Amino acid sequence: MAIKNFQEEFTVSSSKRTQLIDITGKVERLVKASKIKSGLCIVFVPHATAAVIMNENESGLVKDMEDYIKKNFPVGAGYAHDKIDDNADAHVASAFIGQSRMLPIKDGTIVRGTWQNIFVVELYGPRNSRRVVVSVVGK
Ligand code: ZN
Repeated sequence: MAIKNFQEEFTVSSSKRTQLIDITGKVERLVKASKIKSGLCIVFVPHATAAVIMNENESGLVKDMEDYIKKNFPVGAGYAHDKIDDNADAHVASAFIGQSRMLPIKDGTIVRGTWQNIFVVELYGPRNSRRVVVSVVGK
């Protein structure tokens, strides 16, 4: 059977400058719609001030992760890019956290741990239309 590449996208909105947004359900629905049983799922944000991570969706931990980002990529910490813009912190965080994640697909679903939800990380919100591109490659 030939390898298929199923590709879809959706958008998410954010209400804070730094915010984790759980997209697990949306990604899993696209994997199911792809009808691909075995392969890879790539979750990508085509944005220079957003990122994708996986971890537990527990409210305290979500706050911890948002606080970690704010502490380690502080706003206005003397960046050169801030001479022409006001979001160097968001660019640097996006570059180092990463703008995609790749997940294995087995038996038609994402292989992931119980405490591994998929999040878009908003780094320069609030925004009302962040694109999330999902590619499912396999057979
Ligand atoms: Zn910028």
